[in-house]
Amino acid sequence: MSNTENHHQLASSLDCPAVTGSPVLERVTPHNTDVGGIEVNRVLPRRQRRVIGAWCFLDHIGPVSGREIDLHVGAHPHISLQTFTWMMQGEILHRDSLGTEQVIRPGQVNLMTAGRGIAHTEDSVAGQNAIHAAQLWIALPKEHADTEPSFDHYPDLPHWREQNVDMTLLIGGYGARTAPTKSFSPLVGVDLQVVQAGQTNLELRSDFEYGLLPLQGDWKIESEIFAENDLAYLGCGRTHLRVESPANGRALLVGGAPLKHEVLIWWNFVSHSRAAIIQAQRDWEADNKSRFADVPGATKRLSPPPIPWQE
Ligand code: MN
Repeated sequence: MSNTENHHQLASSLDCPAVTGSPVLERVTPHNTDVGGIEVNRVLPRRQRRVIGAWCFLDHIGPVSGREIDLHVGAHPHISLQTFTWMMQGEILHRDSLGTEQVIRPGQVNLMTAGRGIAHTEDSVAGQNAIHAAQLWIALPKEHADTEPSFDHYPDLPHWREQNVDMTLLIGGYGARTAPTKSFSPLVGVDLQVVQAGQTNLELRSDFEYGLLPLQGDWKIESEIFAENDLAYLGCGRTHLRVESPANGRALLVGGAPLKHEVLIWWNFVSHSRAAIIQAQRDWEADNKSRFADVPGATKRLSPPPIPWQE
């Protein structure tokens, strides 16, 4: 997806303050926005919380049903991040400047590593009347910021039933399981789909910070209820988390090792450096095809707002 908001974000997570202290439970409320004609809840970045590990952007798309889905995000560039798409309902066609063309279906992850630069489009597949997805961005650590761009599709992810929940491991490790998904820093993503309402005990790592996002239903965490799209930020220092999962509930658990450097987000660019973002924007505006090649089939090219910083 594309970030259409006109303000820049300073996403910063230095040492996790909770590692040596008590874990936290903070409510992060989403911002409702529109991406390519579909309503989405933007959960990260928010003023209260910029990043969770290397996760620096989280859009919850839908669920929308009962009407024709007409989602079209024109060609736009990314740098120094991975776009991570988790599909729960509907289909989206991804095309990028490497020549990739990949439809993503429910239960699958698409992962685009932007590295030094890539451009892509995303379009709903004609004739569908429901969509439910999450798209997240993962900031690349400084030492991998300019890696070669690549695209990976994961149709088969570890999937199992545990306690009262069907779990899918989207990236990283959970218990004895490891997902095949390519990552550049220690992180995890797990989809939780409730089979039967009840208590669920989640295994956490004390050196990771975590967030639990209810996608459907009201989830009880400690003594607090978190409704759909209200992110529960958990901090670091936990080895497990007991939650009350609702009937037909669904949630996304994301976590990771706190980043060692600041992350700047401007439009669709992520970097530790303003100069790198300014250069990427110039290259996109100048249609520098050696950095951002054309996306086959693209009919629209998105333009960034003016850079907000003095050069
Ligand atoms: Mn995008």
